[in-house]
Amino acid sequence: MKNLIDKLQKQRALSKEEFVLLLGNITEEASEYLFDIARATAQKYFGNRIYVRGLIEFTNYCKNDCYYCGIRRSNHKVERYRLSREDILACCSQGYKLGFRTFVLQGGEDLKYTDDDICGIIADIKKNYPDCAVTLSIGEKSYESYLKYHEAGADRYLLRHETASPQHYARLHPKGLSALERQQCLYNLKQIGYQVGAGFMVGSPYQTVEDIAEDLLFLKRLEPHMVGIGPFIPHKETPFADFPAGSLELTLFLIGIIRLMLPNALIPATTALGTIHPKGREMGILAGANVVMPNLSPVNVRKKYELYDNKICTGEEAAECKMCLQNRINSIGYQIVVDRGDFCPVEINV
Ligand code: SAM
Repeated sequence: MKNLIDKLQKQRALSKEEFVLLLGNITEEASEYLFDIARATAQKYFGNRIYVRGLIEFTNYCKNDCYYCGIRRSNHKVERYRLSREDILACCSQGYKLGFRTFVLQGGEDLKYTDDDICGIIADIKKNYPDCAVTLSIGEKSYESYLKYHEAGADRYLLRHETASPQHYARLHPKGLSALERQQCLYNLKQIGYQVGAGFMVGSPYQTVEDIAEDLLFLKRLEPHMVGIGPFIPHKETPFADFPAGSLELTLFLIGIIRLMLPNALIPATTALGTIHPKGREMGILAGANVVMPNLSPVNVRKKYELYDNKICTGEEAAECKMCLQNRINSIGYQIVVDRGDFCPVEINV
């Protein structure tokens, strides 16, 4: 396995068969070997700096019905909410004072917000905080809509591809949603000039090692600026309520692999990772991640944006979340930086 990891580091890619072999033979020794190299690679580009993104979950209405997601349309037990432009700006104001220089607007696919609404919100944030980056994560839209948001000032877009395999995709989503259309959205976003984030859930129902190998090959082809992966975690009010959560070991191993494939990518240690293990986010950083995304949403709506059961950080104020993460990051020898944390094509000298 060490040979394969060395080859991955050198060539920044493996064949599908090699990925399958590597993923099918994860041992503690192989993981430690991979994490050492992945950490050193991240350090080469980012030193011990960890970027923060303030996450604003501004709507939990969604027109989609993804089988895994707690805010899917058919979950009638969720109390739905929407934040107004003023609410969102208040989150940014608080975040700015706390040192955030990226705001991520995430939500379900909520048709109540028109393109003009979204563009207005982006323009207001950019007007008030010109030194900040705006990231959108609002799902699949037309090329024209993506273009409008970009022209209004949006810098980045997060859209996990969820799974690169069309067959697997069809087992996670109802008819009408397609893997290829989602992938096309990512290519459109890239073409328009966004910094783009793709990614997938680890251990989603019916996922095979071959599917994961396909995910890695897709990431290699797309070359996104950001890659968000986190374990699947069941939500009790979804069709996948009885499936087990994805594995911590496999998620960490994949973070390490992705760091070697895309050495300067922005890779978050996700909230889902912190949910399946109390030190999951620290472990994610030690496996090669370099971004954290504390929650800036108002506390009274946090519990309502429950994508999966037992999601952490739903009861704390933004300042507490930031402090908690800062302490966690300092405890492993890293530092949070006040910086937009843009994709950087070159190594830094540290
Ligand atoms: N609507 C936007 C979209 O489609 O990209 C953004 C919101 S969506 C809820 C954000 C991400 O949450 C999804 O891309 C999915 O990977 C993740 N997610 C949803 N349900 C999950 C679950 N049960 N466990 C882990 N992650 C989940």
